[in-house]
Amino acid sequence: MIRFTNVSKTYKNGTMALKDVNLEIQDGEFVFIVGSSGAGKSTLIKMLLHEEVPTSGEVEVNGFKLSKMRRRQIPKFRRSLGVVFQDFRLIPTMNVYDNVAFALRVTDVPTRDIRRRVPYILSLVGLGSKARCMPDQLSGGEQQRVALARALVNNPRLIIADEPTGNIDPELSYEIVDLLNEINNVGTTVIMVTHEHDLVAQFNRRVLTLEHGHIIADDQEWRQ
Ligand code: ADP
Ligand code: ADP
Repeated sequence: MIRFTNVSKTYKNGTMALKDVNLEIQDGEFVFIVGSSGAGKSTLIKMLLHEEVPTSGEVEVNGFKLSKMRRRQIPKFRRSLGVVFQDFRLIPTMNVYDNVAFALRVTDVPTRDIRRRVPYILSLVGLGSKARCMPDQLSGGEQQRVALARALVNNPRLIIADEPTGNIDPELSYEIVDLLNEINNVGTTVIMVTHEHDLVAQFNRRVLTLEHGHIIADDQEWRQ
């Protein structure tokens, strides 16, 4: 579960990026975070990842109270979530297989498990035949699916996608969100930041709207 309790963030230059944000996201939810540029979306994501700390208030993610977390707990915390960025952040000198395997190699997963898990995850995102390609041989949509495979390979409880479709063609954007949707359907919590309203409208999911550091709307998914 994710819980923000009275979270405010003021940057050193005095900019108030988040103002008294209260928020709960249950395990298994799919949440879009929308809002115009400067609304505070990235700041909220940085709080979730423990890249920035709140000026006041408390953030709790996957059972970790971030303000009380000890330094040695940080690697375990980071492994409980997978992150996908707008600019993919693949390693250009490694092929697709190794970009994904790398996420496991750095955490001492046995080679035998890597050899089983990487092909499985690549086929899950529809890239089973691209394992030996280099990132620059792939389309933007395919590169983002590699990034998604890398985020998923540790089997995290939570996937955070920060404008994952920002650098890919609109036709392919739908596929990425559809994939996140399927991942959510098997139990992983998904939080996706976007400013693409058309995309959000195609999926019937919870939508949090940020404006000037406040949550101004929280539209629950429609349930039958
Ligand atoms: P969004 O992701 O919705 O575009 P941000 O969270 O990036 O919004 O920014 C919210 C506000 O905080 C903006 O006014 C932005 O200029 C400011 N801001 C973001 N990062 C910093 C920073 N490191 N230092 C100072 N101000 C920042
Ligand atoms: P390790 O270096 O961890 O022992 P392997 O011996 O399993 O890795 O694989 C060596 C290299 O062969 C990998 O880094 C990867 O580039 C490639 N490779 C291994 N398995 C596959 C696969 N199923 N599909 C594509 N490439 C693979």
